[in-house]
Amino acid sequence: MSQQSWYQLETEALLEAHGLDPERGLSESEAKRRLEEAGPNELSEGARLSPLTLFLNQFKDFMVLVLMGATLISGLLGEYLDAVTILAIIVINGVLGFIQEFRAERSLRALKELSAPTAKTLRDGEWVVVPAKELVPGDIVALESGDRVPADVRFLEANSVYAEESALTGESVPVSKSAAAIPEDDVPLGDQRNMGFLGTMITMGTARGVVVRTGMRTEMGKIADLINNTEEAETPLQRRLEQFGKILIGVALVLTVLVVVAGIMHGQPMYGMFLAGVSLAVAAIPEGLPAIVTVALALGVQRMIKRKAIVRKLPSVETLGCASVICSDKTGTLTQNKMTVTRLWVGGRLLDVSGEGYEPAGDIVERGAKTGVKDDQALRRLLQVGVLCNDADLVQEEAEPQGKKKRSKEPAKPIWSIKGDPTEGALTVLGAKAGMTRASLAGLYRRISEYPFDSERKRMSVVVEHQGGRLVCAKGAPDVLIERCSYILWDGKLVPFTSTLKQKVMEANEAFAGDALRVLGLAYRDLKPNETADSAEEAERGLVFAGLTGMIDPPRKEVREAIQKCRKAGIKTVMITGDHLTTAEAIAGQLGMLPKGGRTVTGMQLAAMSDQQLLKVVDDIYVYARVSPEHKLRIVKALQERGHVVAMTGDGVNDAPAIKAADIGIAMGISGTDVSKEASALILSDDNFATIVAAIEEGRGIYENIRKFIRYLLASNVGEILVMFIAMMLGMPLPLLPIMILWVNLVTDGLPAMALGVDQPERDLMEHKPRGRSENIFARRLGWKIISRGFLIGVCTLIPFWLVLQQGDDAATLTHAQTVAFATLVMAQLIHVFDCRSSRSIFHRNLFENKALVLAVVSSIVLMLGVLYVEPLQPIFKTMALGLTDWILVLVFAAIPTLFFGIGSLISAPKKKRTIRYDGGARSAA
Ligand code: ATP
Repeated sequence: MSQQSWYQLETEALLEAHGLDPERGLSESEAKRRLEEAGPNELSEGARLSPLTLFLNQFKDFMVLVLMGATLISGLLGEYLDAVTILAIIVINGVLGFIQEFRAERSLRALKELSAPTAKTLRDGEWVVVPAKELVPGDIVALESGDRVPADVRFLEANSVYAEESALTGESVPVSKSAAAIPEDDVPLGDQRNMGFLGTMITMGTARGVVVRTGMRTEMGKIADLINNTEEAETPLQRRLEQFGKILIGVALVLTVLVVVAGIMHGQPMYGMFLAGVSLAVAAIPEGLPAIVTVALALGVQRMIKRKAIVRKLPSVETLGCASVICSDKTGTLTQNKMTVTRLWVGGRLLDVSGEGYEPAGDIVERGAKTGVKDDQALRRLLQVGVLCNDADLVQEEAEPQGKKKRSKEPAKPIWSIKGDPTEGALTVLGAKAGMTRASLAGLYRRISEYPFDSERKRMSVVVEHQGGRLVCAKGAPDVLIERCSYILWDGKLVPFTSTLKQKVMEANEAFAGDALRVLGLAYRDLKPNETADSAEEAERGLVFAGLTGMIDPPRKEVREAIQKCRKAGIKTVMITGDHLTTAEAIAGQLGMLPKGGRTVTGMQLAAMSDQQLLKVVDDIYVYARVSPEHKLRIVKALQERGHVVAMTGDGVNDAPAIKAADIGIAMGISGTDVSKEASALILSDDNFATIVAAIEEGRGIYENIRKFIRYLLASNVGEILVMFIAMMLGMPLPLLPIMILWVNLVTDGLPAMALGVDQPERDLMEHKPRGRSENIFARRLGWKIISRGFLIGVCTLIPFWLVLQQGDDAATLTHAQTVAFATLVMAQLIHVFDCRSSRSIFHRNLFENKALVLAVVSSIVLMLGVLYVEPLQPIFKTMALGLTDWILVLVFAAIPTLFFGIGSLISAPKKKRTIRYDGGARSAA
């Protein structure tokens, strides 16, 4: 373009520069062409690890390097078979590690894609939603409060728009925007009031604009390198495990040195002991643990996606399992957000509306008789205001194809749906039922300005031009709206809105709300010719009250059950809604959310409470009604101070602070604004409360699975170290050869541990209180289980070894004994792995439920049998074929560690009903 900057151009010049028709936008083909030319509207990302680097990284691990050193030494000493085998094990280990990490990285990337931003743009005369990265210069985009600006945009139209641009300008207060050209040169970014910049947020109002720059050419792109976009990818548990791993390395090394020294002192050959030491160290250190944790988390996250919950921050997977309170919006989350007006109140008259859903078919009925709007001026006014002060369109979708099985002869029923806000959609449908469509009114009434709805104002108004005059149409929460009304239509006449009449309106409002209806008031006013209405305050005063509409918004079917599940799981559920108290109470009652003695509070009462007062009662409150978003933050803080781990939903731009402050901030995938999504840790792709509960269930399950394989891996390691340690201390020969230890580490430990990562949850997963946030991973006797089972595995491996050793003192007996020890260790671990699935014992779960585990165990057994019975492998692993008596010995001792505790639990179970010890979920309120 010419010398001039985009902000300096008048609208015509702007449109001309882009060859644009403002009513049609770009054509799809032109957009495609421009996309090829300009490239995707994305900020380039930092370098990503190539698969090769990822693979090579596997060999940087300290223990792998030690192992490679050992290989080299074996090679130099002429032990080629050892060297080659160890090398093969290193490579297989590396490949497995690579697969795990690659998978984890890929699923994390897929996750990012899922929450990628979209934009509403005009193409070929139709508003469509496209991925923001497909926007091109010249696209006309629509923006509203809560949207992230998807590219650099020059506004064509801006209604009460404010944008938060701190990311770009450092200015933390939102700045107002307009569409007027700015003639000056060199205007700093912060003063370019007719521009919206990529990555900034619209905090108020609605706007339309032309995309002028995309991707790296945007203002944000220019400083893209400076922005730190890295999300915290490591969870607290992963960090703690990493620290714990370091301690383990220390302990394992000390024990290894002790084993080696003891062995040498008892006359074992140096080289053999060196190799045994290195192998033992490699086996004892659960170097695969962090990768398995990541895989378990990533797989859990994928399962959550299937259940419609998108995790934006990995650490929240862990926090989910600790959630002790869920604070949820009502509309759309607990309810279906499918509004239908069923009752009207017009100047003291009560009317019913028939019809279902969004289909514009139904009647308005007064005292049993159908009534029309033709001769009913008051009713007509009410409906008209509802249609004019409205941005929702009724659309008729193509009928769904009939099911294959049932081929009906009747013509398919059209499917009606709403484009826009469902509350407004209900009014559109109401108008349509009386023959008043938005299209038919649009020709007669031209909108000249708009004061948009937001949860703070709880109302909306528009100014329209009609036959030379101007009319204000307003709608909103009745209690808010009547404050701004001076007159009311009563018996077809305009009369002053006295307090008695206001009282009547509020009584009708209460009656509607008591039936769980969502109530909206409607009002209007003719503007005098010289009167200005340049602000919401000016427009929304001295209004004429036209009446009330009551709409049903049925609760979601699955929510009641989800709330019951929460109760069993020790999770409190709280409704926080902008809706009227009576409506909120009625819905809470239907959903079983309001227990006996549970309190309900309005935003006004809440505002009158001090923080101290709130703290005292917050545990008893189950419903907050008519609250503003800013109240949510107070509620979160009070609950957190009471020791709760809080999950909080929100959709609007003003909900973001509360979502951020909550332990688990939850945004709505369908109705949520970009601002709320970006502040959130979890997005519900179906906006459904039940999805939160599903995510919590998954969160708990993932954590328990991590505990399961930590238990398995560490108990196995304890067993491996102990068998070697005790043998060396007692001056016995090596019970396990280095190669056997490496094999056990790779096969017996690795595969089943991974299968435990995808284990099914225990049946009572949602029947105990949430775990405390600071609970140690080894809490609830896990540490004891690891040590006790590990100890028994070690001892039970050593005894058969010793028994066989008694049969002679030649090399063949030693090989025989070592083979028996090897088989016992492997079998003991493979039996113990089933025990790890239960917090009680092996007898409490179906052994064959986890197919992956059964497969892992079977393959481990087959591989072990291969090592024992395939003749070419015998010299490599220094094993021999075992006979029946050997197997009896092996299996008896392998079963003892698990059976001992399992039978113990069976004996003690009937006497004492198991009580699950959790530390309560809530932190103490000290
Ligand atoms: P929740 O917070 O549970 O989602 P909500 O949708 O009722 O509940 P808000 O969106 O803050 O909360 O709405 C508050 C009130 O504002 C509603 O009870 C209604 O009376 C009024 N209202 C809702 N939508 C509109 C709208 N589009 N125009 C005018 N008033 C509205």
